[in-house]
Amino acid sequence: MSDYDYDLFVIGAGSGGVRAARVAAMAGGRVAIAEEDRIGGTCVIRGCVPKKFMVYASEFKQHFEDAKGYGWSFPEPPKFEMTPFMNALHAEVDRLSGIYRRNLDNSGVDVIEDRAELKDRHTIHLVNEDRTVTAEKILVAVGGWPVRPDIEGADLGIVSNDVFHLDKVPEHIVIVGGGYIACEFADIFRGLGSEVCLVYRRDVVLRGFDDDIRTHVTEGMKRNGVRIITHANVDSLKKTGDGRIRVNVSDDSEIEADQVLFAIGRKPKTETLGLESAGVDLDETGAIKVDEYAKSNVDNIWAVGDVTNRMNLTPVAIREGQAFAETEFNESPMTFDHDKIATGVFTQPPVGTVGLSEAEARKQFKVDVYKARFFPMKEMLTGDSHRMMMKLIVRQEDQVVVGCHIVGPDAPEVIQAVGIAVKAGLTKKDFDRTCAVHPTAAEELVTMKEKFNPVGINTS
Ligand code: NDP
Repeated sequence: MSDYDYDLFVIGAGSGGVRAARVAAMAGGRVAIAEEDRIGGTCVIRGCVPKKFMVYASEFKQHFEDAKGYGWSFPEPPKFEMTPFMNALHAEVDRLSGIYRRNLDNSGVDVIEDRAELKDRHTIHLVNEDRTVTAEKILVAVGGWPVRPDIEGADLGIVSNDVFHLDKVPEHIVIVGGGYIACEFADIFRGLGSEVCLVYRRDVVLRGFDDDIRTHVTEGMKRNGVRIITHANVDSLKKTGDGRIRVNVSDDSEIEADQVLFAIGRKPKTETLGLESAGVDLDETGAIKVDEYAKSNVDNIWAVGDVTNRMNLTPVAIREGQAFAETEFNESPMTFDHDKIATGVFTQPPVGTVGLSEAEARKQFKVDVYKARFFPMKEMLTGDSHRMMMKLIVRQEDQVVVGCHIVGPDAPEVIQAVGIAVKAGLTKKDFDRTCAVHPTAAEELVTMKEKFNPVGINTS
């Protein structure tokens, strides 16, 4: 046993930190975890989980419309109320946070509800309790935090954390940004009944995703009634006499809104953590630089999850935390492979994507592209016009499917299964010899026969 108070001290009880702490403690380590907010981190408290409930709440508007095509009628237009919904949402968040806490307790982890800062590479200061503890190994898993722009009146706007504490649906909301969070909340607020205006500084949202995903999501948002202003940014916010916000947009237009949501990215939460006292190197974004074993330049300090700004996704943080604990406490060296990770964007319709985009693939090798656009069966009776899009990117040389991109109902559910095939390196032939499940939308994935050849691209 070492002379330190703990074998492992974890800072941050989110997805990555909790997993690492539990695995290390179950392997016999003396482990403590400190959390300054609520146990569960971004995903459970102010991210994926409450966001998904908001997606479900907002989708009902379309479901009620669709139901008419199937013979349903309603005596009065359905009405949404924020308070009962938020009460239910927070009750579930509380329940999940409680489960995380119980799991830590049951694994024998010492849970410290306080802010922890490093004094040096083995010493941690617990700020409110004003005491120090020591640990042989330290894992930093403090996650990230939404960024606010440096503009006049920025504090009049909100960030994603605040959305879950709104007491009413804004009549008019301006959303700044064009990433996951901006697009998801644009459709959420539109579904809940807000007038939504999305302001994005470039041409097409979801930069980095396959171009067909980007155009389909844009079309979907427009069809839902989201106004999109591109090539523009918000210059300043000012309070109006009647308590609203005047939004000055760089294209010289002005918008009056009840809320402005900044969704312009997240930053690793490393400021004032004392990392410099421990000699830990950060990159230019403030992220902790780590090797493939999640180890920083200081050989007893590791970092997992969003604080390393690699792939900022909950399941990735969990796997990184697991790999760290297996390596350091279970004598089972393990790294996490960040290649071909499937992900969903919960726009309406949603996105499921894994592997290379067509543009990325074309930079590396010759490709065959298979693409389908069709109306999902349910919409045949609703009169709706949201086409679904499915696309396979196949490396020509060996016919391995290197990417799959879907926009349409249940796309995030479908992509989880396709992710297995893409990760396993299966070929187009493997997809073709898989029998379809009928009648489903996903059957298109195993029935695409025609190569898509965009004009001007030599596929030979
Ligand atoms: P993203 O990095 O995905 O997007 C940020 C957006 O803001 C981009 O469109 C960017 O534009 C724009 N932007 C950046 N700086 C400025 C600025 N100064 N002024 C105006 N616009 C700006 O961040 P998000 O906040 O949307 O999400 C953070 C991360 O959280 C995601 O990358 C993802 O990893 C994770 N996440 C995952 C979800 C999921 O799995 N479904 C859901 C939500 C979040 P540009 O394109 O020009 O860079």
